Amino acid sequence: MLQNAIDMLTNGLAYALGLAANVLIRPSSFLSVWMLWATFAIAVLWYRRNGSRVRSWKVLRRGLFPRHHLTGRSARADWLLTVLNHLVFTTGFIATLLSLATLGGSVRHLLADLTGVSQATVIAPWAAQALTTLMAFVAYEFAYYVDHWLKHQVPFLWHFHKVHHTAETLSPLVNFRMHPIDGYLFAALTGLAGGASMGVSTWLFGSEVLPFSIGGSNLILVTFAYLVISLQHTHAWIPFTGRLGHVLLSPAHHQIHHSADPRHYNSNYGSVIALFDWLFGTLRVPSKTSPRLRFGVNDLTHDPHSLAGLLIVPVRDALGELGPQQSGDSPPNRPATDCA
Ligand SMILES: [Zn+2]
Ligand SMILES: [Zn+2]
Repeated sequence: MLQNAIDMLTNGLAYALGLAANVLIRPSSFLSVWMLWATFAIAVLWYRRNGSRVRSWKVLRRGLFPRHHLTGRSARADWLLTVLNHLVFTTGFIATLLSLATLGGSVRHLLADLTGVSQATVIAPWAAQALTTLMAFVAYEFAYYVDHWLKHQVPFLWHFHKVHHTAETLSPLVNFRMHPIDGYLFAALTGLAGGASMGVSTWLFGSEVLPFSIGGSNLILVTFAYLVISLQHTHAWIPFTGRLGHVLLSPAHHQIHHSADPRHYNSNYGSVIALFDWLFGTLRVPSKTSPRLRFGVNDLTHDPHSLAGLLIVPVRDALGELGPQQSGDSPPNRPATDCA
């Protein structure tokens, strides 16, 4: 009996330590000490480059990341969903369910059957690996765009995705402010894209070729996560304008996506690549100076930061869309215009 209790305690402790290490140390985690430091350092360098007077690091830290962005009511809801999404609603099983290797194998066999060629080309291993990395990255970005666009256009899906948009302050925790159904659909769609990409690249270059990766994640994606994505959920206005703003989505692009101003609705659905937004008419290039955006969702009839508002109301409202009476809280779908 005592031995069983000790075993359970030891296993529980080992699980908790493993999880903490995965979240805090794995290089591709948005809450890893490495990425948080990189986020802070880039924001500081950006403000100094633009001539902001920095009296002390403490003042700068408070200016960039005010305390209420981590302790306010909206932030407390971010913490809650961050813990629940790591402990309870993990998305790992989606990958198992989809079995990416099997999916990739099916795509490869299909291509081989259609073309009569089992391996399309032989190139230097490093070039094959680089192209495989690029293809997997582009496939992920396209799936990200489609998933995100659908969640803003289809009322049933919007109710789940809305949880992410009810954040009124932005911090890296908002990456995890996501209803579990939103997270599962995202994992399924990006997983399908990853499997298809794997099938095409193994058909092209052979089954032994894998993407370059860091901590199990695509090298290109992790690089952009450090340089751009980690800053998208902050209040640091770092815009890519002009031609660059039509190719890559800056932190400011995503902040516009979170804006509560109806003029900013239906814009900047991509993760890093702006080309899909540009191609499909949803790109809004940010201005050089901050328009001082307000974040959140307008005209809510429930408390978006309560446990019920985060987890139960979205299910109720989504199911309401299936019946004859709609909830009336439809997704914000107004057209994008040129500039913030
Ligand atoms: Zn969105
Ligand atoms: Zn976001």
